[in-house]
Amino acid sequence: MLLTITTTHRPATELGYLLRKNPERAQHAELSMGRAHLFYPEATEERCTVAVLVEVDPVALVRGSGPGGGQFDQYVNDRPYVASSFLSSAIAEFFGTAMSGTSKERPELAETPIPLRAEIPVLPARGGERFLKELFKPLGYEVTVERLPLDDQFPEWGESPYYRLVLEGEVKLQDLLKHLYVLIPVLDDRKHYYIGRAEVDKLLLRGGAWLATHPLREEISRRYLKRDRTLTREALDRLSEIDGLVEPEEQEAAGDAQEEAVERPISLHDQRLLTVLDVLKASGAKRVLDLGCGEGKLLKLLMNEKQFEEIVGMDVSITPLEKAKLRLRLERQPERKASRMKLIHGSLVYRDRRLQGYDAVAIVEVIEHLDPSRLASMERAVFEFARPGRVIVTTPNREYNALFETMEPGKLRHPDHRFEWTRAEFESWSREVADRHGYAVEFQPIGPVSEQFGAPSQMAVFQAI
Ligand code: SAH
Repeated sequence: MLLTITTTHRPATELGYLLRKNPERAQHAELSMGRAHLFYPEATEERCTVAVLVEVDPVALVRGSGPGGGQFDQYVNDRPYVASSFLSSAIAEFFGTAMSGTSKERPELAETPIPLRAEIPVLPARGGERFLKELFKPLGYEVTVERLPLDDQFPEWGESPYYRLVLEGEVKLQDLLKHLYVLIPVLDDRKHYYIGRAEVDKLLLRGGAWLATHPLREEISRRYLKRDRTLTREALDRLSEIDGLVEPEEQEAAGDAQEEAVERPISLHDQRLLTVLDVLKASGAKRVLDLGCGEGKLLKLLMNEKQFEEIVGMDVSITPLEKAKLRLRLERQPERKASRMKLIHGSLVYRDRRLQGYDAVAIVEVIEHLDPSRLASMERAVFEFARPGRVIVTTPNREYNALFETMEPGKLRHPDHRFEWTRAEFESWSREVADRHGYAVEFQPIGPVSEQFGAPSQMAVFQAI
């Protein structure tokens, strides 16, 4: 099986620095079920191509007792030819460092999108051409797919289940490698390794932010983890922490499987929402606003509490509002319950009369999505103009990122975060806001507290004085 990666970034031979593999020298590695070779078929200023060739020993696959051995019952199988999880093993073997984004000689180039072209001449693709495109297009590639005939010489035999795939785009090399590493096994039915918890870690490590925001993240995780329900659930929970997103249907499914839900440790985001709910309940508030309500997870919790007589969710973006509408199923609720709830479109950085006169306002995991230059407008719109009795703000605690194993140092938890604050930064901002507008403020950690880094999330509760 073969993979080639080509760049036309000038000078193209810089590819060697990024991959930490000298274009002058071929390299070889022993894998559990065969050998992998790396070489550069071309290396000029204008164009440089690296090739990874994996030779699988089909006999070892049938007979072997080591990892991957004994799982195929026929000597004649497709493994030597088609791209599969073996290719991912070779990518990890040769390009582990490049994939982690570190380059001693070219650190800046490693962080720069460059023109790249990857070609896999034979790839099995469960889900076919459409699925291939749905996998790679959201990641920013031009995707060319060609279905291969069973045999060139006998076209009447028809098509084979294999495809030639070409991806072209301006992306960071580390991202291309991660995309291939995760998605090649997703396209194939058979993985040559045991699927355990370690695979969830690998998926999160290589998937991280791009997977968390991929429209097919659920299907990708499920297939990557060989449809193991518990592991898939765990992966999706952890991805949703990165993304702050869980599809309404997934939540329903979790709700149905009650036993599973009880055993499953509660996710950080659920903890956050329940903490905010508790504070709102304890405050005695009757009319509440959820600013940046997203897909309405907090709204749903609020709706089930009789204490709240009027609940308004506002978001600047239409897509999550539509999801919130689905999640809340307002049309199926009794009129009395549904009439307490309203969804509005608007931005919390602008003064808005609709926001005046509420007992309490929740702003959960929203401020870090605002450009720092807009914070002052948000502050005035909320604390001066809307002026509710209480304001509850939550935001990630950057210090805690050091404890997320799958996070690369210096990165933020979500691609749309404009900043993440330390506890000291959040507290000092909150105290200034409180002083300027006549509020008292108290802080509470959310999630497990580490002595050194604090909790993963932090909350400020402002009370008008
Ligand atoms: N509070 C929700 C969603 C958090 S994600 C929850 O905890 O589940 C952040 C949300 O803030 C997104 O839905 C985004 O659309 C919204 N947002 C970002 N900027 C905003 C603004 N200026 N006004 C209102 N909402 C905003």
